[in-house]
Amino acid sequence: MSRIINGKEIAEKFCDQIKLRAEEIQKQGTEPHIALINVGDDPASDVYVSKKKKLAASLGISSTIYKLDRNTGEIELEKLIRSLNDDSKVHAILLQSPLPDHLNFRKFIDMVNPEKDVDGLTTINLGKLFSCNSEVSPCTPLGVLHLLNTVHPDISGLHAAIIGRSFIVGRPLAQLLLNENCTVTTLHSRSKNLPEICRTADILISAVGRPLFVGKEFVKPGTTVIDVGVNRIEKDGAKKIVGDVNFDEVKEIAAAITPVPNGVGPMTVAYLMHNALILTRRLCHL
Ligand code: NAP
Repeated sequence: MSRIINGKEIAEKFCDQIKLRAEEIQKQGTEPHIALINVGDDPASDVYVSKKKKLAASLGISSTIYKLDRNTGEIELEKLIRSLNDDSKVHAILLQSPLPDHLNFRKFIDMVNPEKDVDGLTTINLGKLFSCNSEVSPCTPLGVLHLLNTVHPDISGLHAAIIGRSFIVGRPLAQLLLNENCTVTTLHSRSKNLPEICRTADILISAVGRPLFVGKEFVKPGTTVIDVGVNRIEKDGAKKIVGDVNFDEVKEIAAAITPVPNGVGPMTVAYLMHNALILTRRLCHL
């Protein structure tokens, strides 16, 4: 039976430290402020953005939600991003993904001033991560690394298999773990022999977005399993959130495993606040 990695508790402890850092910044006369841009009517995005606003408020970080409707045009979104770039009271900008289909996320994230890019997703900040020179890395990969370090304080030399190669999770996570001297394998929809390759890993991370995708055949006994997936399903007539991993099956083999919910999710939001304070300090020369 695995150790359950309680992301909620770990995030709460981390947030206690963030709150102290926010107080220090306020004592110096600056109110950290995050702009949260949410375009469209994705119900999950609405929930995520309001959770981010709530956590920010509880830590002493102010925020504004910019809610734009699903038919928002390119010019309108560009105007908003440019005005937030120019607003000296805004220290951090989040562009919630996904955007509606007619708006290309990579095009618009690159309009965000890299110095206000709270999720480290602009091409410039991803490049800095690639060249081991980043101050602000993407929040979900940072949260995954933090959870891994609670089990393995030193991950150097361990083999991490990551399923998923998106720009928000898989790719930056691979780079982050490589920077920590892991041996990294990145798998995706064209990869062959997934279970066989995953069974060679000491650390298995799934960021696919498919319920029950990772079963026991993917897991070597003693592996640490991190489930990034968030999938909304209906079971016995009730709506439920599950990860990518068949938790009940895999927990019998893995050494440690994250649950969904209360695994990676709370860490992602905590790192958003952490990054916002780094950006505030840098922009305000504190
Ligand atoms: P995404 O952009 O859809 O990427 C999914 C990845 O999974 C792609 O690289 C895709 O491969 C790969 N994939 C799909 N089917 C596969 C298969 N049969 N075999 C192997 N690989 C396969 O998704 P994302 O934005 O990275 O998010 C992934 C999941 O994490 C989602 O459930 C999302 O909700 C969740 N998420 C959670 C958090 C959190 O804080 N907990 C944060 C972000 C995302 P290709 O590249 O070949 O298409």
